[in-house]
Amino acid sequence: MANISTNLCVVKNKIDAAARKSGRTGEDVTLVVVTKTRSVEEIREAIAAGAVDIGENYVQEAEDKFAEIGEEEVKWHLIGHLQRNKVRHAVEVFSVIHSIDSEELAREIGKRSEAIGKLMDVLVEVKVSGEATKFGVDPKDTLSLVDKISSISGIRVCGLMGMAPAVASPEEARPYFSEIKKLWAKLPEEQRLYLSMGMTSDYEVAVEEGSNMVRIGTAIFGPRG
Ligand SMILES: *Cc1c(COP(=O)(O)O)cnc(C)c1O
Repeated sequence: MANISTNLCVVKNKIDAAARKSGRTGEDVTLVVVTKTRSVEEIREAIAAGAVDIGENYVQEAEDKFAEIGEEEVKWHLIGHLQRNKVRHAVEVFSVIHSIDSEELAREIGKRSEAIGKLMDVLVEVKVSGEATKFGVDPKDTLSLVDKISSISGIRVCGLMGMAPAVASPEEARPYFSEIKKLWAKLPEEQRLYLSMGMTSDYEVAVEEGSNMVRIGTAIFGPRG
């Protein structure tokens, strides 16, 4: 098994170094530890090593892990695509949903969150990479979607999430991150809490470009089986 605690430390140091290049520190960047396909034991090891934000892609998988781990020590982030028929379950587990790509989805999340007395933090997912990623909204439609969903009760719009396409080097991801950052900068101040971008292959570049929330799995746990 990978040395989760050492890896976590290495990643945090790299985040700090990248943040300093953009006039910030590692303290300004939230590390979401991505645990899809990882066992409860591995997740517990990461938590013991200081992980507080946990990212999962699938509602059912997260529910199973949530049932064992709970939410006293950690906060659960949904980073994968969310289908409307899974929203009722999703709002029970997650505190942040990164993958809003329609008004209908936002309304459903608002309704279901309100029903259980929760205010859900949500991010709008921007699709900057054309065909490379399936989900998310077009950059040109992003600000109007944010505006449309801002008044929905039960949710709080907290920023944007985005992914760069798979490119040969992290440097090639830079223009995508800078495009998302520019959109984010146009949001009203109270919605500029999180700019979620950067994964194992490109998080340092993402942080240099202004990301304040990275989602990292492989660099912490090793390759997924
Ligand atoms: C799997 C996943 C990650 C983490 O990917 P790694 O390459 O393992 O760091 C981040 N964001 C999303 C949306 C993912 O699906």
